[in-house]
Amino acid sequence: KQTKSASLIEQTEKFGAHNYHPLPIVISKAESVWVEDPEGHKYMDMLSAYSAVNQGHRHPKIIQALKDQADRVTLTSRAFHNDQLGPWYEMVCKIANKEMALPMNTGAEAVETAIKAARRYAYDVKGVEENKAEIIACAGNFHGRTMTAVSLSSDPEYKRGFGPMLPGIKIIPYGDLDALKNAITKNTAAFLIEPIQGEAGIIIPPQGFLKQAFETCKENNVLFIADEIQAGLGRSGKMFACDWEEIVPDMYILGKALGGGVFPISCVVANKDILRVFNPGSHGSTFGGNPLACAVSIAAMNVLVEEKLAERSHELGEYFKAKLKEIQNPKIKEVRGRGLFIGVELTEPARKYCETLKAEGLLCKETHETVIRFAPPLVINKEELDWAIERIKKVLG
Ligand code: PLP
Repeated sequence: KQTKSASLIEQTEKFGAHNYHPLPIVISKAESVWVEDPEGHKYMDMLSAYSAVNQGHRHPKIIQALKDQADRVTLTSRAFHNDQLGPWYEMVCKIANKEMALPMNTGAEAVETAIKAARRYAYDVKGVEENKAEIIACAGNFHGRTMTAVSLSSDPEYKRGFGPMLPGIKIIPYGDLDALKNAITKNTAAFLIEPIQGEAGIIIPPQGFLKQAFETCKENNVLFIADEIQAGLGRSGKMFACDWEEIVPDMYILGKALGGGVFPISCVVANKDILRVFNPGSHGSTFGGNPLACAVSIAAMNVLVEEKLAERSHELGEYFKAKLKEIQNPKIKEVRGRGLFIGVELTEPARKYCETLKAEGLLCKETHETVIRFAPPLVINKEELDWAIERIKKVLG
């Protein structure tokens, strides 16, 4: 007789578009760093839903906020005010040390928002000629799957069959300061960068690049926009990955863990001189800023701060990385990362290792073919991490 998992996978494959290639596991329950399939097998989550579950699965304080808010009001649209949006604005601005925020729902929508803000800023404030604004992005980037986001991409597979692409985009090699300087023109609106590239395989720019790139942008009146959707909110061992070089970008793009893995919410955060380019009618979203998302997000941010999850990520990340570096295997090309955001690059495809790790009770997902990403929920404790390390050593050693 077919297992429950097998029949659910069959149903998913039959009726769902095949735009993903998941590991053959069905998750039907989860708590903290642990997930369970319908047959009752337990696994440790080493992916954290691409860093959306930094606070751990179903953090009790976040779930309580969800339930409390669900009992009051869930959606008002922005046609009216709601009582959660104001407190949420103030909190996200405080965390990012900025003056204003604009809420959306998914990461890609927040990227869209950032590009719209940068373009309008170029025309209205900088005086760029109509329809000439340019955005500089980095090779290997991942900013999502909408048309703007795939237009920004340098990966042909993300773009194939989806043209025509959005014009006004220039791509430079990640971490190349000279290329940035050469790419800037009088029409450059913004430089968009992931301070650590997640989907590209946990790529860290050369030491000093972020700071120098930021200064270059300042000298040329170009906005520096940091896509911290994956690397931000504690993942890299600091609240923001930009903190590693002590820079405060003109704009942060946030998502994923902003909703604690419970409810989607994303945003851009910047100062007034930038976000005031939006006037009523210029941008919006039916669900953006809804009270349910805001209540959940306030709890999610509180958990990050109260439980010092960035510090925990830093400490345990260093320990984890050192342990991974001890593994002797000629197929391991490099172990790299910041905080609990670690990539193990292999000389061969990583998929089969992810399948073996799954058999050992660890859920990981390959990224960029040859990299295994280890990114557990930041609430993981040392004992749990040691449990994982033991199994990783067995599979990779
Ligand atoms: N930007 C970065 C850096 C990401 O890692 C992702 C998702 O992986 C996105 C944007 C897109 O976010 P979403 O999938 O919520 O649209």
